[in-house]
Amino acid sequence: MQIYGNFSVFLHIMKEEQILIRISGEDRVGLTASIMAILAKYDAQILDFGQAVIHNTLSMGILIRIDEAHSGQVMKELLFKTTELGSISIGFAPISDDDYEAWAGRQGRNRYILTIIGRSLSAAQIHAATEVISRYGLNIDAIKRLTGRMSIKHPEKNVRACVEFSLRGFLSEEQRKALQQDLMTMGTEAGMDFSFQKDDMYRRMRRLICFDMDSTLIQAECIDELARRHGVYDQVAAITESAMRGEIDFKESFTKRVALLKGLDVSVMRDIAEHLPITEGTDRLMSVLKTCGYKIAILSGGFTFFGEYLQRKYGIDYVYANELEVGEDGKLTGRYVGEVVDGRRKADLLRLIAQTEKVNIAQTIAVGDGANDLPMLNEAGLGIAFHAKPRVKANARQSISTIGLDGVLYFIGFKDSHLGEQGKL
Ligand SMILES: [Mg+2]
Repeated sequence: MQIYGNFSVFLHIMKEEQILIRISGEDRVGLTASIMAILAKYDAQILDFGQAVIHNTLSMGILIRIDEAHSGQVMKELLFKTTELGSISIGFAPISDDDYEAWAGRQGRNRYILTIIGRSLSAAQIHAATEVISRYGLNIDAIKRLTGRMSIKHPEKNVRACVEFSLRGFLSEEQRKALQQDLMTMGTEAGMDFSFQKDDMYRRMRRLICFDMDSTLIQAECIDELARRHGVYDQVAAITESAMRGEIDFKESFTKRVALLKGLDVSVMRDIAEHLPITEGTDRLMSVLKTCGYKIAILSGGFTFFGEYLQRKYGIDYVYANELEVGEDGKLTGRYVGEVVDGRRKADLLRLIAQTEKVNIAQTIAVGDGANDLPMLNEAGLGIAFHAKPRVKANARQSISTIGLDGVLYFIGFKDSHLGEQGKL
């Protein structure tokens, strides 16, 4: 009888159960420590743990596995503790072994990150985005605001808003493409930008970024500026339009346009370079990328003269563009030197620099606005169409059209709080 009794106690000790603890209320220092002190006393195992703080209200979940013999006492002590603290509510839910295993088994699914950006974000915009992701059966695991807190008294300080969703689910390659297309359409209609990326190790370890120059780093097309100063703008524009209509190829149009610049004095180029209108957000983006050790390249169908000016200004590592030939008289000869950098060459250069820097292609980023940027945008791990024409945007995986170039930082997961109050380092 005695032996039988001991055996039954032994069996009882071995029985464990899962309890989901939900805590919500006013956030305060030391709350988690006091809850954990009770769980530690009864040797609870933590199976899952997470919290979110919205304004100053906390919502926390702890999934524990604990000896059934102690669970009643643990819940009693937790209830007592939270009552003592005041303005905190606590709830408990048992989780069966089967339910737990089914949940744990789903963790093998793919994870994705959806980042949405706008000057500000409305419920209608968030609704549009979440409606698209739910249509593809993706579940939201976490939501994070990457931009700083908004001011309601000083709305002029709120220059951008960004929210990042961690998603989980399974998408075939066709579904992923269709989802990306739907997001692009939705983003254009709702006036916001987005990126949809696989949440793998490369996302956090990008190392090389390649920029187009004209209309990306600077708000100008250098050839138009040169043509304007040389009084040949209309002829140059006519050739550009003819190339855009597909009547002549890029190389032919480039050669013809450069020929029209014959006789232009180099001092005019220097003057243009010193007054280049730098794109909003470029200074902030460059300073963060340099601090984090990124390799930075300019891959431009424009001219090396301006690329090298930006290289000195920002400490850029590589510049590949087209070199205008200068005669002994200090004037342009109307010819260029070397191979023309076109769309295909930009993609090749991105791959070559990645090889030189021993960077996996998945760790590369490309940013550009033009049709000749599409090959490099598609080649890079993260290709971003920047204030691009609809045709370029429609063929890119992600885009930024609502804010400045520093929007790239959110796509690679930076938070304003990482960058200091003013968004500077
Ligand atoms: Mg461009």
